[in-house]
Amino acid sequence: MTIETIDPQHPLCFDHITLTDRPLIVCDIDEVVLEFVTPFQTFLKAGGRELLPRSFRLHGNIVPLGSTEPVPDAMVPTLLEDFFQTQDAWQTPARQAAETLADLSGEADIVFLTAMPPRHTEVRRRLLDRHGLSAYPLLATEAPKGPVVRQLHDARDVPVVFIDDILRNLESVRAHAPDCLLIRLMANAEFLAMAPAPSEGIESAADWADAARIIRRHLQHGSHL
Ligand SMILES: [Mg+2]
Repeated sequence: MTIETIDPQHPLCFDHITLTDRPLIVCDIDEVVLEFVTPFQTFLKAGGRELLPRSFRLHGNIVPLGSTEPVPDAMVPTLLEDFFQTQDAWQTPARQAAETLADLSGEADIVFLTAMPPRHTEVRRRLLDRHGLSAYPLLATEAPKGPVVRQLHDARDVPVVFIDDILRNLESVRAHAPDCLLIRLMANAEFLAMAPAPSEGIESAADWADAARIIRRHLQHGSHL
């Protein structure tokens, strides 16, 4: 098994994050706190393209409007870069995300961990702040999420929860923070229906209310072992 590590050339700064002795909830952004697929589809249409729901991936499914032939793979990162640069014009909170996080913040520390180039942190921060999500510190990194969660949690004796839509991220956290409660949550129902089933030890939440139920059940059991 490959041991993932945080790139020593690009160490993550945790200085803006203050954790208490309460449980820790680490939460992905795209498709979890903010809608991603639906606003990305709107963004693509504005540029004469569309994302077809043919499989659970972007590559091979972005086509010029009216065509079924995908744009070159090399164009996908460029489109994502343009989208992230102007994300505050497109993205909106997922249903019940802000309200549920506000509720949960009464009993747990919440940290956002987003797999986005760190150069877009400022625009994302502004977007989150505008939607009542200013209380939660944000980490943006393209590093694997498991080592980040492990470093953040630092083996403290409190429960830790990780929420993400992508199994690769959930499995990375499972490998590096084995006590962590893992929840798969995805806002876009059409792409969720094509997503691979969560592997062992990963809970599936239908929506934010369901995620909150799973988290509270875990916390009330008083055991995170
Ligand atoms: Mg995501």
